[in-house]
Amino acid sequence: MHFIDVILPLPLPKLFTYSITVAEAGFLTPGMRVSVPFGKAKIYTALVFNIHTTEPHAYEAKDIHQILDNEAIVTQKQLEHWQWISEYYMCTLGDVMRAALPNAFLLESETIITKNTETQVNETELQDEEFLIFEALNHQTSLKIQDIVSILDKKNVLPVIKSMLDKHIVLVEEEIYEKYKPKLVRYVKLQTKFSSEKHLQDLLEDLSRAPKQRDVVLTLFTLSAQTKKPIKVTELTDKSNASSAIVKSLIDKDILEEYYIQTDRIQYSGEKNNPLKTLNEPQKIAFQEIKASFEKYHITLLHGVTSSGKTEIYVKLIEEVLQQGKQVLYLLPEIALTTQLVNRLQDYFGEKVAVFHSKYSSQERVEVWNHLIHHSSKAQIILGARSSVLLPFHDLGLVIVDEEHESSYKQFDPAPRYHARDTAIVLAHLFQCKTLLGSATPSIESYYNTKLQKYGLVELSTRYNNVLMPDIELVDIKDKHKRKRMTGHFSDRLIEEMTETLKEGHQIILFQNRRGFSPIVECQTCGVSPQCPNCDVSLTYHQYKDQLRCHYCGYHSVMIKACEACGSVDLDTKGFGTQQVEEEVNKLFPNYKVARMDLDTTRGKYGYEKIITAFEQQEVDILVGTQMLTKGLDFRHVKLVGIMNADNMLNFPDFRAHERSFQLMLQVSGRAGRTEKRGKVLIQTYNPYHKILQQVTTNSYMEMYEEQMDERRNFKYPPIYRLIKITFKHRNYNKVNVAADWYAKSLRMVFKTDILGPEFPPVSRIRNQFIKHIIVKIPPKQSVSKTKEAIIKINNSFFAVKDFRAVRVILNVDNY
Ligand code: ADP
Ligand code: ZN
Ligand code: ZN
Repeated sequence: MHFIDVILPLPLPKLFTYSITVAEAGFLTPGMRVSVPFGKAKIYTALVFNIHTTEPHAYEAKDIHQILDNEAIVTQKQLEHWQWISEYYMCTLGDVMRAALPNAFLLESETIITKNTETQVNETELQDEEFLIFEALNHQTSLKIQDIVSILDKKNVLPVIKSMLDKHIVLVEEEIYEKYKPKLVRYVKLQTKFSSEKHLQDLLEDLSRAPKQRDVVLTLFTLSAQTKKPIKVTELTDKSNASSAIVKSLIDKDILEEYYIQTDRIQYSGEKNNPLKTLNEPQKIAFQEIKASFEKYHITLLHGVTSSGKTEIYVKLIEEVLQQGKQVLYLLPEIALTTQLVNRLQDYFGEKVAVFHSKYSSQERVEVWNHLIHHSSKAQIILGARSSVLLPFHDLGLVIVDEEHESSYKQFDPAPRYHARDTAIVLAHLFQCKTLLGSATPSIESYYNTKLQKYGLVELSTRYNNVLMPDIELVDIKDKHKRKRMTGHFSDRLIEEMTETLKEGHQIILFQNRRGFSPIVECQTCGVSPQCPNCDVSLTYHQYKDQLRCHYCGYHSVMIKACEACGSVDLDTKGFGTQQVEEEVNKLFPNYKVARMDLDTTRGKYGYEKIITAFEQQEVDILVGTQMLTKGLDFRHVKLVGIMNADNMLNFPDFRAHERSFQLMLQVSGRAGRTEKRGKVLIQTYNPYHKILQQVTTNSYMEMYEEQMDERRNFKYPPIYRLIKITFKHRNYNKVNVAADWYAKSLRMVFKTDILGPEFPPVSRIRNQFIKHIIVKIPPKQSVSKTKEAIIKINNSFFAVKDFRAVRVILNVDNY
C-alpha cells in the first residue's frame, strides 16, 4: 500500500492523503503535480508533498486521477521554505502554494480556458481530444474545465489541457485581460531631405539666428556619425544641453522627425555586456566592509544615503557570485522594478537577468519558473518583487533586498501574509548564503538587529560624485496662512522656487501623502491633532458616531468642538489629495505640463511605467504624486521637491507614523539633485519644530532611531514587542462583537496582559462585513512559537462553537 500527501490549492489546515499504485510510487517524487478528485465531483491539481505507506485513519484514501508531470516542478528546498512560511505566518500550505505557483500550473474545475489567438495552430497535428477542445473554442470564447469534462466525456481532462497549455494553444483565464504592453522609447532623426551635405549646410545657415536649435542639429549630426545608432530624444537633450521644448520646435518645423522603438522589458537584444563601473573610494571601502561583514554575519545592512551608488555595489557583489556559478535574488518593491533598473542590470549581465513581477502574465511567469527549474543560464539573476522569494532556486549564492524599509514588502491580503524581506532571509539560510539589505533609511527593526549584533552594518554617507545632499527648508504654513501668503495649498516660498526651477528648465516633484485622506482631526489654526492619552498616536474621527477613537487601546471621546490646544473652532477632518494639488498647479503654472502619479492614474499594469518614462524623457515638467514617487527612482533633471503637507503623515494613527514619515520625506528628498546641481526641498508644515522634521532637515537617522526606540520601549511596540493581529469579519454586527469578545477573553485567560481590543477599525464595515481587531503583543521574553501555539488552540476551540463557524478569522503575524 502506497500513499501520497498532497497540497491542494485550498485553505485546508492539513495535507490530504491519496492512494497510489506501486508503479506510481516508483515514479512520483515530491514536487510533482497530480490531478485528484476532491469534494463532490471536483477535480484539482495537487502537489505531491511526500510519499509513504501509512494509511490515513480518519477517511479512506481515494485514488489519484493521473500524474501530470515527468519531473518535479517544485523543489525540495521550496517545500521546506513553504513550510516555514505556513508555520511562521500561521496560514496553510495551500495558501502558500497558491501565492507561489503561476495560475497556469494550477488547473481546477473552475479554471477558465481560452484560445491563444497568437499561436498559429496546425489542426492536422492535434491529437483527437485536443482537436475537440480546439473546435469547441472556435464556437465559444471560453470553456470551464467542467465543460471540457462533458465535451470529452471523461473525468480526467487535466493532462490534455496541460499539453495544450504547453503548446501555447490555449491560455488560462487571467491572461485574457491584460496583455503585455511593450515600452516605447522616443527617438529623433534628421528629416531625409537634409541628408546631403549641401542641404545640411543650408539648414545650419538658416538656423544661425536660432543658436540653440542649431546646436541641437549639430549635436544630433555628430552623435549619429559617432555612434551610428538611433538617437534617443533624452540622449540628444542631455548632450546638447537643450530642453525638450527646443527639440519639439525642430520637430514642428519638419527639420527633425520623431519615431518610437519598442524596448522589450524581458528580452535582451544587446550584443555585448558593458564592463562594470569602477567604484569610487567610498564605494570600494563599503564593498570591502560588506565582504568582511559577510564573514561574520549571515545578514548585513548597507545604510547608504540616497544616490550614494548602492546599486553599483550590488552589481559588483552579483558579479562575484555569478563567477562562482551561483544564483542571485535581487528583491525590489514592485514599483521600483522599472525599465530603468532592468536596463541597468541587463547592460552588465545581459540575458542572465530575469524579471519577475506579480503582475506579469501567467505565461511570462511560467517562463521564468521553467528557466529556474531547468537551471538555465537565462535566470541566474532574478530581479523581482515580493513574490519572487517563492521561486524554485537551486543554488542561491546571494540575496539582495533593496529599499528594505519599504512597507510594500509585506503582503496584507490574501494569505500568506508574509514579509518578503524576512522570508528572503529564511530562504538565504536554507541555501546557507548571505543576505544584503540596503536602504538610505533603514527600518527601525533592521537597524535594531544591527545593534543586537544579529546583522552586520556598513555605512555609506557620501553621494556619488560628491553631489551635495539636497538643501531642505521647512515652510511654516501656519504663519503663511496668518500673513495671507498662501495660494490654495501653495506657500509663496514654494511658488517662488517652482517658478525659478521651471525657468531654468528643470523638473519638479510635488509630494502629497496618500494618507492625506485619512479622517484625523486637524486644527486649521495651529495644526494640532488630538492624541490618545495612552498611546503615541492621533485619534481617528468616526463620523457615524461623531467620536474620536484610538485604534490601539480603544480609548474614545466625543468629537471635540474646539481645538484643545488653541481653542479655535476651525477644525478640519478631511485631507486634501493629489488631484487637488494637480488642479492648483495647473492654475498656477498653465504653461507647463503636469502629470499625476497615484493609485488612480497607475491602475493599468504598466500605468506607472508610462508616467515614469514621460517624466524621465522630460515630457512632463511637474510630477504630482504619492508614496509611489519615493521608491528608488533615479531621475536626472529634478531640481526641486515640494512636500505639500508633512503633518498628515506625522499625525497618522500608527505607531510607525514617525518612522515612516522620516523615511518618506528623506526618500522623496533624495529624488532632488541627483546629478551635478544641488537639489532643493521645501517641506510645508504647521509645525516646523516637530522633532521628526528637524531630523529630516539634518538627515539625522541616528537621532530619529534613538528617539523612536525610546517610544517603542515605553509603549511596547516592535521591534521590542512582536505583534499578531487577529481580525474578525461577519455580516452581522452582533455576531462579530460576541465572537471577538469570546476570543479576547480566551486570549486574556492565557496571556493576562498585552492583549489589545477588540476594537473596530476606522472603517468598520467593508462590503457589508463588520470588522473587529484584536492585537496580541508578545513581550521580548515570551516565546513567539508558544504564543502561536496558544492562539491556534484558542482558534480551534473557537471554531468548535457552532455559532462562530461562519465568522472569518484572519491571523496576521508581524502586521506592521
Ligand atoms: P543609490 O542606489 O544609492 O540611490 P545609484 O546606484 O542609483 O545610487 O547611483 C546614483 C547615480 O550615480 C547613478 O546614476 C549611477 O549610475 C551613478 N554611479 C554610482 N556609482 C558610480 C560609479 N562607480 N561610476 C559611475 N557612476 C556611478
Ligand atoms: Zn488649534
Ligand atoms: Zn490609545
